[in-house]
Amino acid sequence: MDAKCGQHPDRPADRGTCGRCGTFVCDECAITAREGVLCTECLRLLDRGPYVKHARILSVLMMVHGGLVAAAGLSYVLFGGFILDELADIPADPSDPTSGMLPELTVGVFALIALVQIGPGVLQALAGWRLFHLNGVVMAWAGALVGLVGCLGCYCAPTSLAIASYAIFVLTRDDVRARIAVGVPPASPAS
Ligand SMILES: [Zn+2]
Ligand SMILES: [Zn+2]
Repeated sequence: MDAKCGQHPDRPADRGTCGRCGTFVCDECAITAREGVLCTECLRLLDRGPYVKHARILSVLMMVHGGLVAAAGLSYVLFGGFILDELADIPADPSDPTSGMLPELTVGVFALIALVQIGPGVLQALAGWRLFHLNGVVMAWAGALVGLVGCLGCYCAPTSLAIASYAIFVLTRDDVRARIAVGVPPASPAS
């Protein structure tokens, strides 16, 4: 006799067994995870891990914070452009050889500030988006830690530090690591 699905006794277990609990699964019950087939019940159990909700909280924080950091970087670019505009109106003082360098210096400083903010900010926001779907653990680490680069820039140091510390705590929890390793979005809330 052919094996039947553990949830649906009337259906054949076309997808074999769940890699975690060994239950026979049909097409509907099988979830194709990164490391083989998983049953819906096991995915739901993984979703309910004690720290998994913290991973979702962290992901939202990363999206918001990354977006704000990137926006701050962008405002520096605009501000830098505005300053350049003003500087262009000031005639260069021929007796002062450094006055001609001022615009270049300004561009350099603002470009640097923008670079250490926009790049990490965007990366952090994208990593947060992937983590929200409980995916992309490498990117989550990168996104959380790269925020520290922004500390070279400005005020965002305390929040970046807080996010990095929270990420280190959350991403090292066993249940979070097991859940993200599956590599699929959360099970649908429907039972
Ligand atoms: Zn299972
Ligand atoms: Zn089934």
